Amino acid sequence: ATPKIYVITPTYRRPEQVAELTRLAQTLMLVPNLHWLVVEDAVAPTRRVLSFLDTCSVPHTYLLEFVVANKPLINKCYVPYRQPPSLAGRQGMASRRYKGANKPRGVSNRNAGLKWLKGHAKEGIIYFADDDNTYDYRIFQEIRETKQVSMFPVGLVTRLGVSSPIVSGGKIIGFYDGWIAGRKFPVDMAGFAVNVKFYLKKNAPLMPYNVGFEEDGFLKALKIKPEEIEPLADNCTKILVWHTRTVKSLPALKMPDSDKVTKTNL
Ligand code: UDP
Ligand code: MN
Repeated sequence: ATPKIYVITPTYRRPEQVAELTRLAQTLMLVPNLHWLVVEDAVAPTRRVLSFLDTCSVPHTYLLEFVVANKPLINKCYVPYRQPPSLAGRQGMASRRYKGANKPRGVSNRNAGLKWLKGHAKEGIIYFADDDNTYDYRIFQEIRETKQVSMFPVGLVTRLGVSSPIVSGGKIIGFYDGWIAGRKFPVDMAGFAVNVKFYLKKNAPLMPYNVGFEEDGFLKALKIKPEEIEPLADNCTKILVWHTRTVKSLPALKMPDSDKVTKTNL
């Protein structure tokens, strides 16, 4: 049997949210044997996300801090996950607690996904897929073969235009990235995948709340040497995922007055 791919997607409420999720879902629809963990940075389910998931044909689980609507694996599932107290808050809590670039975006969500996996999966592949990136469906064919940890290039990261392991003789001998910053693994969140069995064997570490060092901290905790990492995408010569970013919608996005639009399509 082919191993199942668990895609962990952090998401948060904003005007672009359902558009991002739609684009991502329609890529994931092309991938067999995949389970999508949609993990929202919110304390209560978002109605628009729930109705999006209602018609979403990708097998998925919707996770929040502790309430989960799960389909089609289990019908309703309550995961006793709690936000670290210092980060607890309302919608988009990370963005409210941390101003500017200095906030760990998506970390609590990814960790909620990892905790769910620890309780629900024994084998398979873990992949962190932010909601705003762009994925070629072939990256999922590649990562399905991951035995421990695999890596591959990510386009549109820093001014270098790409972040990639440096491969020689089929082994990773270094990293090409515009921001090394003393990291042992200077890679993007979208640039690696982890085997579930391997992850569990390494005591299922979580991601640190450490801006810019989330990937590095997580990968270090897996205690793997660069030369043991499996280079994918033809020895890291192909870009199959891009760290795209969506321009924020106009802040002036306004709903029509409800009294003027009753009994119409609006
Ligand atoms: N995110 C989140 N809460 C926030 C901000 C971001 O859950 O307050 C999610 C977002 O949906 C995305 C991931 O975290 O999947 C990374 O955020 P973003 O794309 O803003 O970061 P960047 O790619 O710019 O580093
Ligand atoms: Mn992003």
